[in-house]
Amino acid sequence: MNLGDDLYREIILDNYKSTENRKSLDDATFSQEGFNPSCGDDVTLYLKTDGDTITDVTYDGMGCSICLASANMLCNSLKGATVAQAEDLIGRVKAMLVNQEQPDFPDGAEDLEAIAGVSKFPVRVKCALLSWNTLHQIVQEIKSKPSDR
Ligand code: ZN
Repeated sequence: MNLGDDLYREIILDNYKSTENRKSLDDATFSQEGFNPSCGDDVTLYLKTDGDTITDVTYDGMGCSICLASANMLCNSLKGATVAQAEDLIGRVKAMLVNQEQPDFPDGAEDLEAIAGVSKFPVRVKCALLSWNTLHQIVQEIKSKPSDR
């Protein structure tokens, strides 16, 4: 029996079941829907920003356990982060899942290591990456807007 796998499974399940971040934000600054046709995952991300800081982030939608657990981890790890930190985290998640690199996450985002095992299953990688690809679209939108300061 592999204790690491059991622990990771528990973290994924806890994140999947958590409803704290699973809601739409009426006053979101940015929202973006992401769809993964290979599984049917359909998730919308909501971001509230103040200048360069992400003050709140939530998600809503339907998806498999990997997809929703990953989206919940995204929300937990990005509240209070800057847009640059969000970009950095997107890069680290993709390195882990797509390039199968050793996970390396800052404090508060360690739960993401639990989905490292998904990198062996290309179909599931799409599930885990859906919310991060959606976040990437929002980050591009934020960066393309002229600063209002
Ligand atoms: Zn899925």
